[in-house]
Amino acid sequence: MVSKKKPSQQARRRDGAERPGKPTVKRGKRQEKSKTAAAGAESKPRAKAPTEANAMSSRSGGGTKPMAEPKIEPQPKPKPKTTGVGRSAKAPGAGRAMAAGRVKGLGSDEIAEIFRRFHDIEPEPKGELEHTDPYTLLVAVVLSAQATDAGVNKATRLLFRLADTPAKMVALGEERVRDAIKTIGLYRNKARNVIALSEKLIAEYEGRVPQDRDALETLPGVGRKTANVVMNVAFGQPTMAVDTHVFRVANRIGLSRGQMPLAVEDDLVRLIPPEYGVPAHHWLILHGRYLCKARKPECYRCPIRDLCRFEPKTVHA
Ligand code: SF4
Repeated sequence: MVSKKKPSQQARRRDGAERPGKPTVKRGKRQEKSKTAAAGAESKPRAKAPTEANAMSSRSGGGTKPMAEPKIEPQPKPKPKTTGVGRSAKAPGAGRAMAAGRVKGLGSDEIAEIFRRFHDIEPEPKGELEHTDPYTLLVAVVLSAQATDAGVNKATRLLFRLADTPAKMVALGEERVRDAIKTIGLYRNKARNVIALSEKLIAEYEGRVPQDRDALETLPGVGRKTANVVMNVAFGQPTMAVDTHVFRVANRIGLSRGQMPLAVEDDLVRLIPPEYGVPAHHWLILHGRYLCKARKPECYRCPIRDLCRFEPKTVHA
């Protein structure tokens, strides 16, 4: 005879049977939940880039849960109709229009017209750092980091009276250089660099300022921007030093959408007509300093307002 005795609770657990009062559906739910979480992690990229349509539906959905995400087929990017600029439209400092990603690149005829107008207004623009030759220009530019041109000029008027060649500067010594330039920021570090670069010019370049970028960038305190200024102003090369003014103005006008100075420099060097390659650097700096100001551009009196892509333009002071 077969015994009808019920198996003990321990035996039921050993055999994999569920305990009474703990229905299998609970464990199943937990397992499904963790599976869903894992699947969600794998399918994260789908949720990253909502289309405008589903972004709008989530804004107006009033908190209802979407049933399932529709599969989004990748769409081919539309080709730009103008020469444009090959950068992303997310540049900081690019203005409201740029932030909204609505700026179209300028056509080559518009770019030529912008620089033709700059040329008509100021055919031979000059920088504002006082200097008498490539060496004094180099020193002035090294001193100008995080300082105003006016502040640097005040300091160099005294410094260049004491020393205006590499040999005289080394003879003057770091301490006296420091004293002469102590009114400008970072003067200790800058004094050290002025002495070190002067020593290097004497040791490796017969006391002369080299004309090429690679050599310039080996000098203490000289980076790409300083090298570009020296190559442009002292040696007439079509370089573009991107400072805060050039960066802002280039992005506002629509000449570049670069997010970094080097990207802006590349765009400008590529797009500016060669006949304007040398003075363009000064035009953009002066335009940014006196008219297309950081906080409030003076669009109402801007000679290129009909070509500039920045919106909304200011209409009065
Ligand atoms: S129109 Fe306004 S934003 Fe554009 S370049 Fe002129 S001042 Fe700057």
